Amino acid sequence: MKNILIVITTLLLAFTACKSNKGELSSDVKTKTSPTKEMVETTIIDEEQVVPTNDGIKRLQSKSSGIKKVVKSPAEWKAVLNEKEYYVLREKGTERAHSGDLLTVKQEGIYTCKACGLELFSSDTKFKSGTGWPSFYEPYKDQHIAEDVDFNIGYKRVEVLCARCDGHLGHVFEDGPKPTGLRYCINSVSLDFLPAEGTP
Ligand SMILES: [Zn+2]
Repeated sequence: MKNILIVITTLLLAFTACKSNKGELSSDVKTKTSPTKEMVETTIIDEEQVVPTNDGIKRLQSKSSGIKKVVKSPAEWKAVLNEKEYYVLREKGTERAHSGDLLTVKQEGIYTCKACGLELFSSDTKFKSGTGWPSFYEPYKDQHIAEDVDFNIGYKRVEVLCARCDGHLGHVFEDGPKPTGLRYCINSVSLDFLPAEGTP
């Protein structure tokens, strides 16, 4: 009888130990998996989040570049852009060749988006293309430029846009100089110029 009791007690102990081990194991798995799930959920929320700001601009988290989008209504854009700027930036127009103020600028500095101020091109990559539009062989940062394809004049061209406000900038062609071989043909009215500090 005593022996039987000992056997039963041992079995009970073994069973309890086994159960608690199992419990630990499953809680272990839970700790390992739950942060990943939370991270994924947080990322999705961030991507779709529209944050209204004090200046009335709705900023939309960009899905690919991490750049917060600037979204405004046509009326809001018309309030901050002149007619020519609105025509080019928001209606994908093209300025007359050789008409742009920034075409002949040779100073060192950064060319920014006229609509939202994002840095788009550096003077280091500007070159004389002879086309009548400011030309660059490389963006300031790849993620600041978005591309789209258009057939507006009957053949395929790659449209270049500001990645933050989706403003139309111009087109990119594959006949540029080294090192990239690219020619970003940009409307002057789509740009602002910030001279580097210390330059006249
Ligand atoms: Zn912009």
